[in-house]
Amino acid sequence: MPGAKPRCLLIGGQFTGNFCARELKKQFYVTVIDAKEYFEYTPGVLRAFVRPAHLDSLTFTLQPVYERKMGVKFIWGEVKELNGDRKTAIVKTMFSNNMDEIGFDYCIICSGCNFGPFKPMGESLWFPTVHEEGRAVSDWKHIDERFLEGRRRHVLEEYHKLQDLNKKKATVLIVGAGFIGVEWATEIEHFFPDVKLTIIDFLPRCLGPLPDSAANYCSEYMNACGIKEFYSCGYDPKNPDFWKKIELPNGADETYVCIGVKASNYFMPKNTLSDKGPGGGGWIHFNKHLQVTVKPSEGGGVWADGSIFAVGDCNYGCIGEPGKWEMPPVPKISYPGEEQAYHACLNVMRLAKNQKNLVKTWWPWGAGMFATSLGPHDACFVAGANENKGSGYMVNWWIPAALQKEIIETTKIDECRDCWIGILIWHFVHHTPVHLFGRAVGLSGFAKWVVIAGKNIDLSECTTAQKGGGMIGDLGWLQPDELKNRFGPALSEAAKNLQPGQWSDLASSEMGIHIFQRIA
Ligand SMILES: Cc1cc2nc3c(=O)[nH]c(=O)nc-3n(C[C@H](O)[C@H](O)[C@H](O)COP(=O)(O)OP(=O)(O)OC[C@H]3O[C@@H](n4cnc5c(N)ncnc54)[C@H](O)[C@@H]3O)c2cc1C
Repeated sequence: MPGAKPRCLLIGGQFTGNFCARELKKQFYVTVIDAKEYFEYTPGVLRAFVRPAHLDSLTFTLQPVYERKMGVKFIWGEVKELNGDRKTAIVKTMFSNNMDEIGFDYCIICSGCNFGPFKPMGESLWFPTVHEEGRAVSDWKHIDERFLEGRRRHVLEEYHKLQDLNKKKATVLIVGAGFIGVEWATEIEHFFPDVKLTIIDFLPRCLGPLPDSAANYCSEYMNACGIKEFYSCGYDPKNPDFWKKIELPNGADETYVCIGVKASNYFMPKNTLSDKGPGGGGWIHFNKHLQVTVKPSEGGGVWADGSIFAVGDCNYGCIGEPGKWEMPPVPKISYPGEEQAYHACLNVMRLAKNQKNLVKTWWPWGAGMFATSLGPHDACFVAGANENKGSGYMVNWWIPAALQKEIIETTKIDECRDCWIGILIWHFVHHTPVHLFGRAVGLSGFAKWVVIAGKNIDLSECTTAQKGGGMIGDLGWLQPDELKNRFGPALSEAAKNLQPGQWSDLASSEMGIHIFQRIA
């Protein structure tokens, strides 16, 4: 058909799927498939269980937003199988017992994951039970969380359970003092102050790999409000000594397990899924272009013809192995997921134009940002964390951090609803130049004999040096390829392997002799 656009299928319509739909809608016929009918802002969902009215502000129905506002197609159904050779997805749509087969030219898998690795298919309060496999073994089979009304009923049930626990002044054990466990304990404490809370973790302190400053801040908060903490303590519910150790000799009236993720990529062929990884593996292997690959033990090559991508929580999160990382594990949080979604969209657009130079993804700066709320009026915000334990800095805390979390929540949901305030705020976070902080090379360039920033600027004949400004000779954010195109191979060679803060050797171009410093 003349003028027909290529078809792009998005599996999952939450953070990453929503991002891709907005990004691709102009150039592709986009179809979004989601197993549930609604968007839910996962980072805010704990508050909904202790204050159910909050659910309304976290959720919206997907169909009107996708079809009427964005102008893409939405299918409410579960993808049961993805066929890479035929480029089709087998979908069980709602209210039908038959399977539909949907064709595509490109596909981005944005299907996220489950939480709660102790349950057979992974199940937790934090993520609705939507997959057929999961619903069959669910602890809340009587509720169908694919419907927003089902989700609301689940939230209300849990709320009433907490109310009863509060009336009884019951004991509650939270297993896992990562950010979800800490947030859940402090939410319960704030809204149900008569519940007696204990939190444990097998690590020596809370908040896992985050910096000591943040862990101490959260510990102090929990201590001040009477939440008992036990660290270096594994969960061993069948052992009476375990209960004695955590000063609950008669056990707890209720236990919430707040640890870990579990893959839910049931629709993918086994040879694309990891044997290892959190929750026993099952994560989608991918390469630096975010294309789905077969597992390394089967050669690690691109799966299908390279037109299928996997982004966000559903993928393996890392490339390589410990000690030999090509890309170290990226935390399963929304910012890096959206960053990957952006890179995958760029690659889909390039493939559609028959371009071969695909974007390589990188560790995004936002992968190091963690906001942990401590009830509604306190929080701490860490930036700059990476894969090393204890890395990052607590840069905001107390009421300002709680406010920051609220602002993020409100504006992010606004963006996902395709409303302009949210779009205006978040667009620039994921697009050039801000998103390049994660990896692009910021270079200040000086010409002719100048080696120290600013000092001998009048000797420089370089146009960038003459521009002046706060960073004299600042070239801005450039990727090595762009550097090569603009200044020639010698400069890009000299700059290529620099780490932030390092200076290059002398390098010449048609404009003269330069020395560079990579500044970020
Ligand atoms: C309690 C909690 C607090 C969090 N707090 C934060 C935070 O403060 N900051 C932060 O950045 N991140 C936070 N996260 C993590 C964040 O929510 C996730 O990283 C993010 O939701 C991942 O987005 P995604 O698009 O990859 O997947 P998801 O949001 O999981 O969306 C996947 C979608 O795919 C659909 N789907 C799955 N399988 C199929 C299928 N077979 N067919 C059709 N549809 C399917 C699902 O229904 C779902 O709607 C938190 C997570 C939890 C649980």
